[in-house]
Amino acid sequence: SNGAHVQALIIGTGYGGSVAALRLAQAGIAVEMIEMGMAWDTPGSDGKIFCNLTSPDQRSFWLRTQTKQPVGYFLGIPIDRAIPNYTGILDAEDFAGITVYQGRGIGGGSLVNGGMAVTPKQENFGAILPSVNPAEMYNVYYPRANAGLGAGVVPQSWFTKTDWYQFARVGQKQAGRSGFPFQFVPDVYDWNYMQQEDAGTVPKSALGQELLYGNNYGKKSLQKTYIPAALATGKVNISPLHKVTSVSPASGGGYTVLMNQLDTSGNVVVTKEVTADKVVFAAGSVGTSKLLVQMRDTGQLPHLNDQVGQGWGDNGNIMVGRANQIWDPTGSKQSTVPCGGIDNWTKGGAFAEVAPLPIGIETWASLYLSITKNPHRAQFTWNAATQKVDLSWQLAWKQDGITMAKSIFDKINSTEGTIYRTDLFGSYKTWQDQLTYHPLGGAVLNQATDNYGRLTAYPGLYVMDGALIPGNTSVNPFVTITALAERNIENIIANGG
Ligand code: FAD
Repeated sequence: SNGAHVQALIIGTGYGGSVAALRLAQAGIAVEMIEMGMAWDTPGSDGKIFCNLTSPDQRSFWLRTQTKQPVGYFLGIPIDRAIPNYTGILDAEDFAGITVYQGRGIGGGSLVNGGMAVTPKQENFGAILPSVNPAEMYNVYYPRANAGLGAGVVPQSWFTKTDWYQFARVGQKQAGRSGFPFQFVPDVYDWNYMQQEDAGTVPKSALGQELLYGNNYGKKSLQKTYIPAALATGKVNISPLHKVTSVSPASGGGYTVLMNQLDTSGNVVVTKEVTADKVVFAAGSVGTSKLLVQMRDTGQLPHLNDQVGQGWGDNGNIMVGRANQIWDPTGSKQSTVPCGGIDNWTKGGAFAEVAPLPIGIETWASLYLSITKNPHRAQFTWNAATQKVDLSWQLAWKQDGITMAKSIFDKINSTEGTIYRTDLFGSYKTWQDQLTYHPLGGAVLNQATDNYGRLTAYPGLYVMDGALIPGNTSVNPFVTITALAERNIENIIANGG
């Protein structure tokens, strides 16, 4: 509440924030978590908390009057629709050269993501986080993160026979025929629950077209893992619909944190001021970077170093669809939960997740989200004229990611005698090169911070999220974000700050 003093204040309730909250609370520290999005704990008029992919309503997007779907066209026709302005769950945040998709609400990205819980290959780790001891990560922190998140692989016996993964079996078969390894990857979805969905004994979510806008039943988002564990300590409080706008040193020690309480139209209801001994920035790569750059360049935290705002990347995200032969249908039934990917990282710089297109009709399309080794890095800068933070990413930089993704799909198309779909991302547009789901960097570990996320110019300030990772993880990022947070918070607690 306004005027309060708290021991530790955490900005954001995604992976980094939830890990920090649990571990600080277990160490006896009282924690206040501040989240700009909604709580997502109350059903709407349809009895469900979240809406599905094919009927997006006001709950779908963060403060937009029209949906902005990543696959925004079908047969070249735009499929976005009008929605009421509301503090919905998926933010499509536009910068000049890229749209960054992020989750909004208690649980952050875990609310909206595909749940693919992928640990990078150890041989690639040195390029991901060069200052971190890989043995510790692979022996201690990755296992801790995977256990805490509840990651597991699709049961083979069911995968091989269910209609719901025909799209993935087509992806597996075609990868193999072109000589690429198909790798099953863990997901945090409850695979037993999904089989019960298939049997018709429980309400459907993965098999009910729930994707992008939240999952009502089977997904183990942070709302089912780290966050209840943190709340069970009795030392954590969470304030939804509160957006932090400023952090600066308080005259009596600690930090003054300003925040706006929002209504569900995004209007400011009231402004509050809190003081905190410690402040953890866990607002996600974009949220943390924006706050820190603004605080440095407007004089609230002037001693933050010049690495703050640097080293941002898109994890090489590129989407593409392929049109299969008539004898290779991908199925009118498609689980929304991806379970495998095609690995050509070492030779071609691409790892492609075989993604669903669960629109309920046969499309003969294979859809992929590729993670590529795109080398470009952008920076966040404060724009005094607009009073906003800009990001220097350029659309043309995606070409490197496209070239890497083509190392997989040109080959598959040539083996199968097939072509790219050109109708899913516009009219005659093959590549979805205007977005990322995986923002990373902006306050890179051991550059903007010390080797554990401390903003050393300001004792008691920490970065604890995807902003620490310099732009790429070679696979989907949340397991690495979680494992790194487990490592960093342990060191911070052990050393008293
Ligand atoms: P986030 O999870 O983004 O959490 C940050 C939180 O801070 C948010 O809740 C935000 O609302 C809040 N916040 C921001 N600014 C403020 C502020 N000023 N005040 C208060 N609160 C604030 N990754 C995978 O590994 N596997 C996948 O399958 C996968 N699929 C994805 C699919 C989609 C559609 C999207 C969008 C992402 C996907 N990701 C996936 C990426 C993954 O979700 C993110 O990498 C991850 O959530 C980032 O974690 P984080 O802790 O850095 O921040």
